[in-house]
Amino acid sequence: MVINRREFLGMAGGLLIGREAFSLDDLLQDAKVEVLLKGGQSENKFNIVILPEGFTKNMRKDFDKEMDTLLAGMDKFAFWKEYKPVFTWSKIWVPSDSEWSTSSNGDGTALKIKYNKEDGHPELTDDNILKPYKELAKAHLPVVLLKEKEKNGKIGYSNTDEVITGNYLYTFYHEIGHGFDLRDEYTNTEMAGFNITTDKDKAPWKDLIGKVKDIGIYEVKGEKIYRGEKNKCLMQTVSEGTDFEILCHSLMIAYLRKFAKCIDTATKEELLSLQKGKPLGIEFKTTASTKYTPTTKAWYCTGTAEELDKFAEEMRGQVLTDKSFADKKWKAAKIAAKGKALGVEAVLTPGNYIVAVTAYDPNPAIIFDPENATKDKRVYRVEVKE
Ligand SMILES: [Zn+2]
Repeated sequence: MVINRREFLGMAGGLLIGREAFSLDDLLQDAKVEVLLKGGQSENKFNIVILPEGFTKNMRKDFDKEMDTLLAGMDKFAFWKEYKPVFTWSKIWVPSDSEWSTSSNGDGTALKIKYNKEDGHPELTDDNILKPYKELAKAHLPVVLLKEKEKNGKIGYSNTDEVITGNYLYTFYHEIGHGFDLRDEYTNTEMAGFNITTDKDKAPWKDLIGKVKDIGIYEVKGEKIYRGEKNKCLMQTVSEGTDFEILCHSLMIAYLRKFAKCIDTATKEELLSLQKGKPLGIEFKTTASTKYTPTTKAWYCTGTAEELDKFAEEMRGQVLTDKSFADKKWKAAKIAAKGKALGVEAVLTPGNYIVAVTAYDPNPAIIFDPENATKDKRVYRVEVKE
């Protein structure tokens, strides 16, 4: 699928040659989103858009080839292999006037990335430069594939919103790990995050110690920094064959689930009014990984319209688990396949009800979900009339 920002005007080559330099407007006008890999079941995807930096006009094929190679290497990482169906990867070709090098100051390349000599990282000179591409591709995460003249791209830098990466497979996925809010787990790390801490007494993963194998407090050599995993993790080293370790793997799922939620599409959470004996009309779809389909359950309870209105509002603001429905006022409703969707079934006598649907990702790799993003729900108010 190709999305055009505007139709090609059938411009003759001569017009393009007449340009002295590519301005951002020109680049944007010609920008087209090309989908590289589209996940299967769901409409509710996590979208990643890849942009080239330092690839000149005649290097388009190099960029395409790099992207194909990098995406073909995805299966080396358990997370990426497993969650492939909920991602859409696309690319936008934006050529640079000149190649990128560490002496670059942001001139001559499409995305104006410069080299910060103090910290040894490439960085954006304009924080807003990726925004229009991000919008064009409806991307959650824009990733810049940097081709470095001297070292053929074995360099990487990122922050949480946009990622600048080298084109070496392990660096590429390490940097995208930063795009999922993971921090470096090696020395000279200043930032603490969910997978690394400067205060071992307050490690975010502390509750897992003793409960999950290989989770503990591991000092990063020479620094007062602590990581949670015993084994080597891709956030610690980009050497060949390294994968994300259990804590980071789990956090990536939790981050992904903030966008590609367990419930993909569902009936709107508005008051549903129906005649007795008629179907509830609550339907939804879930987003599955290659191995796991979200576990779904449904419950209902009855009460007065007023108390249920209030209660439904409260429930919408809460994380719902099986425990939330432990009270015996709740009765289980059936969930049955309805074509490609799932439907909630219950025989309700006239009165007022709450019908709640919960879905969670049952992947046992999820050991740490600080924001409860791997759990999802819908809460409906239903009135059944005579
Ligand atoms: Zn890093």
